[in-house]
Amino acid sequence: MPSAPRWARSAAHRPQRVAMAPRVNPPSSGGAPPAGRQSLLRRLPGVDEVARRLESEGAAEIPRALLLESVRAALDLRRRQILESPDHALDQIDCSHDAIVRDARERLAGLHAFSLDRVINATGVVLHTNLGRALLAADALDHLHRIAAAYSNLELDLVTKERGSRYVHVEGRLRRLTGAEAALVVNNNAAAVLLALETLARGREVIVSRGELIEIGGEFRIPEILARSGARLKEVGTTNRTHLRDYAEAIGPDTALLMKVHSSNYRVLGFTASVSTRELTALGKERGIPVIEDLGSGSFLDLTPHGLPHEPTVQATVAAGVDLVTFSGDKLLGGPQAGIVVGRQDLVTRLAKNPLNRALRIDKLTLAALEATLRLYDDPEHARQAIPTLRMLTEPSSLVARRARRCYRRIPAKVAQSLSARVSEDTGQVGGGALPLAELPTTVLALGNADFSAHALDERLRHERPPVIGRVKDDRLLLDFRTVQDTDLEDLARAIARLVEPDHDA
Ligand SMILES: *Cc1c(COP(=O)(O)O)cnc(C)c1O
Repeated sequence: MPSAPRWARSAAHRPQRVAMAPRVNPPSSGGAPPAGRQSLLRRLPGVDEVARRLESEGAAEIPRALLLESVRAALDLRRRQILESPDHALDQIDCSHDAIVRDARERLAGLHAFSLDRVINATGVVLHTNLGRALLAADALDHLHRIAAAYSNLELDLVTKERGSRYVHVEGRLRRLTGAEAALVVNNNAAAVLLALETLARGREVIVSRGELIEIGGEFRIPEILARSGARLKEVGTTNRTHLRDYAEAIGPDTALLMKVHSSNYRVLGFTASVSTRELTALGKERGIPVIEDLGSGSFLDLTPHGLPHEPTVQATVAAGVDLVTFSGDKLLGGPQAGIVVGRQDLVTRLAKNPLNRALRIDKLTLAALEATLRLYDDPEHARQAIPTLRMLTEPSSLVARRARRCYRRIPAKVAQSLSARVSEDTGQVGGGALPLAELPTTVLALGNADFSAHALDERLRHERPPVIGRVKDDRLLLDFRTVQDTDLEDLARAIARLVEPDHDA
């Protein structure tokens, strides 16, 4: 069995960097540096010489300004080290031309590389906000590509030749899918909530249950969004129990809205009571006050036949009589980042006419991807298979297991042995503030032993190309195959092999 490489023994692995000599004041303050340092400085190569070497290795394709910037930075570092290191550390500075070229090459790669790049999601969290939430369906990518590369009828009515509305491209379909009278789309759901509150309740009161004053992460807190909209929050009930009479008694002349918020990312369990959407809308109708519900990750499909917990669909929420419903485009819907508002025509029209809407508006690329995603729902069963989020959430665990075994078979036997690699069953999460209690049966590849700590493996895989993101549990690194794509398998197996054989290139 090959012994663990040096990086595995220290959890403090970092991508290779040129060591920086300790910063101290120059030994002689003012005047020329002493003779030893002078000669070191003289021996440094010139900028042109290093640049020529990089170019001769094929870096000529790279913009010259970046190339020179990298070379100058590599040389400046050596110069500073020579001038600032204490005498006894001078001979530790690597001033060889090879080392300088290597340093410049790494800097150049860093400067010219993409920052936003593909990663392999092996966390098992299907809607992972930090990893970009939903993957787009192939049809959405095609449509986005077509619309991005050409002029389009974005805001041109081809019948009247007059200025049209960008919203018409999705409005009809959203009305049909949800049963609502009208629809509007904006940049994201946070924007949809802000726009709705600002339009309908600025300077007035919005009644919300204390059990629904949520934070969903990334600075989105209902009380704060409400304050930003200029509305006043009127809290009712308690954290665990709110009754219809709490809302009824709180209604006053200044009440603009009754608001319900989906507890997306947590559940209050035990001695609880909350008011159903249907009860609240009945109260709203009786008292003439609109009801708004922030559904968070609105779904069009009931996923219970596939073993997932019950979630109210957007259609069911509209049918329960809610006047305005808001939800995200990139959660359970499986489309691009967007905020969708559906509901009463008069209210949606007021939102659309609010100047704030212009600042929150959806761009044409998102709109194209959203239209194509919604179009897939024309046939719900097709949507479930063609939209990656839904496919991953409903994929039978036997198929997840098969993918895990296919990856395992691609790993050289001695690598699997060194890492104590095991294929085993586990449970994953939906994520993205959706279905917080759902546990998805899944299959993982577990790695790690005394020679390879889970955290060291995790760190190492995060620095692979493409980076691999897993989860650490009980000092094993788990790679969860529910979120690993078929197209990831080759890269993933190679990254795993490189943990033990750094030169491995399958
Ligand atoms: C996710 C979520 C939001 C925010 O949606 P974004 O599309 O991320 O802006 C708002 N409210 C609830 C209940 C959510 O779950």
